Amino acid sequence: MRFIDFRSDTVTEPTQEMLNAMSSAEAGDDVYEDDPTVNKLQYKTSEILGKQDSLFVPTGTFGNQLALLTHTNRGDEVLTPENNHIVLHEVGAYAVISSIGLRFVKSENGKIEISDLKSKFRSDDIHYPRTGLVCTENAHSDGKVVPLSNMEAVYRAAQEQDIPVHLDGARIFNAASFLGKEVKEMTKFCDSVMICLSKGLCAPIGSILSGSYDFISRARKNRKMMGGGMRQVGYLAAAGIISIEKMSKRLDIDHDNAVYLGDILENSGFFKVEDDRLDINMVFCRPDPDMIDQGKLIGHLMEKGIKISPIRRGELRFVTHYWIGKKEIDYFVEELTEFFKRF
Ligand SMILES: *Cc1c(COP(=O)(O)O)cnc(C)c1O
Repeated sequence: MRFIDFRSDTVTEPTQEMLNAMSSAEAGDDVYEDDPTVNKLQYKTSEILGKQDSLFVPTGTFGNQLALLTHTNRGDEVLTPENNHIVLHEVGAYAVISSIGLRFVKSENGKIEISDLKSKFRSDDIHYPRTGLVCTENAHSDGKVVPLSNMEAVYRAAQEQDIPVHLDGARIFNAASFLGKEVKEMTKFCDSVMICLSKGLCAPIGSILSGSYDFISRARKNRKMMGGGMRQVGYLAAAGIISIEKMSKRLDIDHDNAVYLGDILENSGFFKVEDDRLDINMVFCRPDPDMIDQGKLIGHLMEKGIKISPIRRGELRFVTHYWIGKKEIDYFVEELTEFFKRF
């Protein structure tokens, strides 16, 4: 049985077109840079992101951590909002792999307060660590897209101090689609960027780290050290090419579907939808805790072939993607209504 899965866009399985491309892909040993399909994916991604070079990596976490390792020296401090992915969801890897510290900057849904950022750059004092990097995220995983003007202001402030900026762009195509801009117009305000192929873009595996020739050649060696030098990875890159060329252009459909779902949930009276954070493919809503027994709700939906995530920080999150259309949303809402009638 194929579930209707609202837990995340990471659950997306590859399309038939991807499976066909994978089974007929040309591959080679990518540690020798011999895999034509990986080379093609990296080349095309560099073009789209407006960067000199790119590197295929197994996961988004790997790509972010590789960027931290390549940009910084041991003991450096990285400036970042405290609710970014590298802080919350990467197992504290920055401390283990790069031996760096974090210093938090004031922010709202990924949008950094510039005066606070400026006050947190370290001066050249014998007591201070060196500020090694500023780390940003767009779209932010709380559903919000950071405006271009803020990305530009962060970049200018960092440049004045000669500090590089890394962008966690796991969902950058979602952000660009929301802004109505080319991704290039976002990535010109960072020195390196990580993008995920395996979320809303449907590839089974893979992320990409992009930056200058020099940065990527150092990252290539660090990737090998981290155990991420892969061999015939062209079979995966074949799906990735379809992700960036084709799937990246249909994300407005997922965003429209999220708004469609958000409206229905708000009107149902059982949820308070956080509609100011409904920029991309994620609907966050607060259920009435007295009305809802979450164990029962999740169990009821599971029986009906629907998967949802448990409540986190008082919120439910429903994520739309390629495998969820209006028909699936209508069925989901029907089953929700049924649940509230019964319990
Ligand atoms: C998903 C995600 C990542 C990393 O993804 P994995 O491939 O699961 O390691 C990084 N940053 C953000 C903002 C994400 O949403």
